[in-house]
Parts: sequence; structure tokens; C-alpha cells
Amino acid sequence: MVMRAAVLNRVGGPLEVEEVPIPQPKAGEVLVRVAACGVCHTDLHVIKGEVAFPTPCVLGHEVSGVVAQVGPGVEGLTPGQRVVASFILPCGGCYYCVRGEEDLCERFFALNRLKGVLYDGTTRLFRRDGTPLWMYSMGGLAEYAVVPATDVFPLPEGLALEEAAILGCALFTALGAVRTAGLEGGEAVAVVAAGGVGLGIVQLARAFGAYPVVAVDVRPEKLAKAKALGASHAFTPEEAQEGVRDLTGGRGADVAFEALGRPETFRLALDLLRDGGRMVPVGIAPQGVEAGVEITRLVRRKLRILGSYGAKPRKDMPLLLRLAQAGAIQVGAEVTERHPLEEADLAYRRLDRGEVVGRALVTMGGGYA
Ligand SMILES: [Zn+2]
Ligand SMILES: [Zn+2]
Repeated sequence: MVMRAAVLNRVGGPLEVEEVPIPQPKAGEVLVRVAACGVCHTDLHVIKGEVAFPTPCVLGHEVSGVVAQVGPGVEGLTPGQRVVASFILPCGGCYYCVRGEEDLCERFFALNRLKGVLYDGTTRLFRRDGTPLWMYSMGGLAEYAVVPATDVFPLPEGLALEEAAILGCALFTALGAVRTAGLEGGEAVAVVAAGGVGLGIVQLARAFGAYPVVAVDVRPEKLAKAKALGASHAFTPEEAQEGVRDLTGGRGADVAFEALGRPETFRLALDLLRDGGRMVPVGIAPQGVEAGVEITRLVRRKLRILGSYGAKPRKDMPLLLRLAQAGAIQVGAEVTERHPLEEADLAYRRLDRGEVVGRALVTMGGGYA
């Protein structure tokens, strides 16, 4: 039995669709028939060689789909169930997982993110000649993906399957950021960069009762999208500092999120804070990139910088799914374009050129809504 998968053969791309054997789940794992996979900047960093990862590999790390098969020992999941999976696959047994800090899972970073394998040290994806294809998270740019059961969550009724894919990274990372900030109702929030994750933070800040929720971006169409998703105000970077001050009695934001990972947006997010404020960076930068921080302002003004990576799947994904079920966040409203698997390469090129407003999906054509 074969399936189609989009393979990155070398840094720089392109992603090329080929037929490979359908993977088999081992103990504690689930085979998901993928409905859709979100198009995320982190994959793009790998394509461009800004984040080191072995090739040939299958990228794609936010997926929704239907359970096709469960491995030995998996309880509570049955074939036919609609599910979503996040990009962090918690091993469940390392120092950090045991502490509930699954966003720091040691084995996820050491095995999956560095070597492209699952927790027995091997990949599930191979060519017919036996060549291993390394897995970035679950390797979601394929018709089927093996996911550890610790990261497979049933999708509540009433949520459309394909667009639910973005719960696995864009909205998942956004919820992690809001939780890392310890955001409280009534706090003033600024969100620098209104891409997929930034828009998710706008939605969740609104859901948590923040006000004002200010979106900052260079692109007018992204600011318009942010306002449609609940931002109370929207500014260009040039307007942002004065705009946020005017809205906060001259003080600045309680919390500023940074969702792009560039030195200039990192500094801007710090500049938007009030004294004692929290800055939460979630944007990943190419390896080695630094951003300057004014030491005396950081000390004297008691600023806090709280790095946030993804979220804690088993703690946060059930919460995220309830927020979506309750209508507190609009999952589908962030999805702005869909591409078949054959166009996966095009989708990432559009993302690279800044042409994706919201989130793009690669859909596998299973006839799902
Ligand atoms: Zn992502
Ligand atoms: Zn772990």
C-alpha cells in the first residue's frame, strides 16, 4: 500500500510529491489518515536551511485527520475518529514531561527535531528501496502520518475537520504564549506581526478578555484580517509606539507578543511595554540571530522577557479544543487558502514571499469539509 508524500530532498527545495509505502504504527502510536496540514514558517526555515534538519525528509507539523489504525497499547482512540495533533509529540517519560513541562520534552528535541525520528530512534517513513525519509514532527505533508498517542486528540463535534489542522501549531502556539504571559482579563495587549500565530494570539487575547488588543504589522491586509478576528486597534510599526501609549494612559502595553523572530520586531515589542510589562517572543529566528536589549531599561523598568515555544499538548490541547467548540475562537476564519498536495511547494513559496494572509492549508483530498 502506497501513499503520496511531499519530500524535501535537499535544502532549498523544491518539495516533490512521490509515492512511498504507508507507514505502520508501533506500540503507543496512531496512524492518522491526514485530512489537512497547515503551512507554517517553521517548515520554511528548514526548506531554506535556516534551521538544520536532515534530508531527505517529510515536513508538515500541524495536522487533522481520521484515525486509520492504532498500534498496540493505545487506548481511547478508534479507527474512524476525527482527530488533531500538535507539532510537539511529548515522549511522556522524560524529566520535563514528568513535570508536565511537555513544551520542553528532551526526547522530542533530541530525537525528532535533531534527527527526524520517533522515540525508538527510527523513522516510520521509507522509500520503496528502503531509503529512510526523516520526519519533521509527524511528517504531515503526506496522506498518512504516524503520531504518538500522547499527541492525538479527538476533535469535538461541530468543528470542520480540514481547518482544524491549524489548532496543531498556529493556535496551539498562540495559546501557549497567552498562558506563558499569564494573561488576565482587562490587560492591554500588543501583538507584533499578524501572521498565522499572531492572528491566533489576537483571537485568544480577546477570548481571555484583554483590552485593548492591538495588532502591529507592515501589511495593511494583515491588519485588516487582525481586526476582523478581534483586534480592537491596528497599527503599522511606525505608528505603534504612539498608538499604544495613547490607548494606555501614556504607559504602554501590559503584555507584548512578538510572532516573527526578527531583531527589529523583538525590539519593537519591548518598546511597546509599560514599566513592569511582559514581553513574550514566540517567533523562531534563523540559528544564531540575536536581538539587542537595553540593559538599564530592562533592569530599572522591571521588564520581563518570557520565551514561549508551542504549548503543553496534554494540558493545553483539550483547553484549546473547548475554546474552539465554545466559539471563543474562530478556527476557520484564519484559513485563507487551500492547496492540493501537488501544490505544497507553491504554498511555501507564497508564504516565503509574504503573500499568505492568515493561514494556508495543504489538503489531501479525502472529501472532508
Ligand atoms: Zn508551525
Ligand atoms: Zn518528554
